[in-house]
Amino acid sequence: MAAVPDIARTEPAPAAAAVHDEAAAREALAVLREVFGYSAFRGEQQAIVEHVAAGGDALVLMPTGAGKSLCYQVPAILRHRRGQGVTVVVSPLIALMHDQVGALDELGVSAAFLNSTLEGDEARRIERELLAARLPLLYAAPERILTPRFLAMLDSLHERGLVSLFAIDEAHCVSQWGHDFREEYLGLSALHERYPGVPRLALTATADAHTRTDIVARLELGAARVFISSFDRPNIRYTIVEKDDAKRQLLAFLRDEHDGDAGIVYCQTRRKVDETAAWLREQGIAALPYHAGLDADVRRAHQDRFLREDGIVMVATIAFGMGIDKPDVRFVAHLDLPKNIEGYYQETGRAGRDGLPADAWMAYGLQDVVQQRRMIDEGEADEEFKRLQRTKLDALLGLAEAHDCRRVRLLAYFGEPSRPCRNCDNCLHPPATWDGTEAARKLLSCVYRFQQHGGRRAPRQFGAVHLIDVLRGKRTDKVAQYGHDELSTFGIGADLSESQWRGVIRQLIALGHLRAEGEYSTLVLSESSRKVLRGDVTIELRVPAHKTTKARARKDRRGDGGGAGRGAASAEALPLSDEQQACFAQLKAWRAEVARAHNVPAYVVFHDSTLAQMARERPATLAALAGIAGVGAKKLERYGAEIVRLLSA
Ligand code: ADP
Ligand code: ZN
Repeated sequence: MAAVPDIARTEPAPAAAAVHDEAAAREALAVLREVFGYSAFRGEQQAIVEHVAAGGDALVLMPTGAGKSLCYQVPAILRHRRGQGVTVVVSPLIALMHDQVGALDELGVSAAFLNSTLEGDEARRIERELLAARLPLLYAAPERILTPRFLAMLDSLHERGLVSLFAIDEAHCVSQWGHDFREEYLGLSALHERYPGVPRLALTATADAHTRTDIVARLELGAARVFISSFDRPNIRYTIVEKDDAKRQLLAFLRDEHDGDAGIVYCQTRRKVDETAAWLREQGIAALPYHAGLDADVRRAHQDRFLREDGIVMVATIAFGMGIDKPDVRFVAHLDLPKNIEGYYQETGRAGRDGLPADAWMAYGLQDVVQQRRMIDEGEADEEFKRLQRTKLDALLGLAEAHDCRRVRLLAYFGEPSRPCRNCDNCLHPPATWDGTEAARKLLSCVYRFQQHGGRRAPRQFGAVHLIDVLRGKRTDKVAQYGHDELSTFGIGADLSESQWRGVIRQLIALGHLRAEGEYSTLVLSESSRKVLRGDVTIELRVPAHKTTKARARKDRRGDGGGAGRGAASAEALPLSDEQQACFAQLKAWRAEVARAHNVPAYVVFHDSTLAQMARERPATLAALAGIAGVGAKKLERYGAEIVRLLSA
């Protein structure tokens, strides 16, 4: 397997490949401004665009929301203008293609897609456009591209020098290692073999080195230049709360911080998805369920509403999310623990693609730890795979139990050093901790007594509830039945509350000093329990945080709380005044009508951030309107007059 070139993450790649060409750079910027209405490239975009537009191969690793699409769309437009023909975009999801083409259409770029949803006539019309080289971009699924019919069209274009570029989106689908493996992606190396001279660009948001190596090897990208962006998503605020009554905690979070916002709530099981969605609806929240057990029609309808309407809360299993590039998802909430940090990062990454403040919120408790550990133990996988899964889970538990900056830990997991972020719960409100070492020792000796005392006769079903009863000296029936009130550890922990004891148990399990076994989650000592009993390990526990209140949330956002606040330097992120808010609402209502009439999601017409800037600046002329980010030439022509009128009313 080819190794990934060893390039420091944030450093630009060596400038060997393409010589910087002033004129080409100006041309690229002009396309960005005219067509997309953006004033400047972000991060690595410019280097990538110039490299690819000049015909270089590239592998692009960028976190979700950083702007991967522009990396092939701008070169596609440039190369098409130069007569180099069509860029073929390989994309795994039909919904995604549909939205991308809709968005390009709004920008006045004639892109198209070919997939199984098209009627024969429409497909033939697009094929004619394609063969006539009138399309700068064509989207298609890999299985479509590898059909003889499609390859014959490519042959014909290629003979005339009209295949400009292959852009392979979601390139991690080629790796079995990742979570989204697609058999059809393996066939894509055929493109390179058949058309060796055509440049290729592979893009993914999956960061881990193993997947990266797979992409390079399977797509034969050994000679491609690799662009790795920072994986930080500074506008996402990470918060992990101790689970107490998860549904109510979620409701408070939604009401206090995300009233009327669109977001995703992840649950582990289908049943929990259904229950949670129904319950939220009873509470007056516009929630919809989504999981693989629902009819395809229902799933599609719910996804459509989520994309097209404002303020829908999607309650879902992880079946939902890939390829959802809705930019204004304001929060992702987890009611259950994901499997590992990769999953957590991917799922939370769906929040705030538009760069505006967004929340990644998770409620996490003892049961989560027990359940995830058990799922691994009882899974079908072989021992080695289980060991790997356990290591990955441990890293996630470390993140959940952390008292220091969550972002620093998250990025460190992906090999990226960073400094405390001032935009996570622990940075904003450093948790008070207490020394739980003594409590942990009491607890473990109590478990030890159970194991000794019960002997062979006792059924092994002493879980957390019973253990806490014994420690706190509660004479329940079960305590009496097993004579556990005679143990020397009976009542030695009356000074701590039940929830404090649950915290101790959770942390001990998370750290591997205690294990929960079998159907009844019987607590048993582990190899490393002894270290705690001997006092070699100190256990630091968090004092449960106060509930977030509306006032505190606002204070954090304004940035006069503990830290710099979210989106500190960005004017975009400033809250609107009441008057501006009213204007923003008017613009949104106008946008909803246009979106309905054009049958596209609202954000395809204009992003929230663009509307917010309009409300803030109230441009009175077309020229002033053109200065707002997100207003390109086509949109100015289409909607400019209407908006100026609306704003001056
Ligand atoms: P990704 O595919 O990497 O998740 P997208 O390509 O969907 O990200 O881009 C995320 C958002 O950022 C989009 O709404 C896009 O319009 C916006 N965006 C991308 N590049 C720029 C830029 N240079 N200036 C302003 N907005 C940008
Ligand atoms: Zn932080």
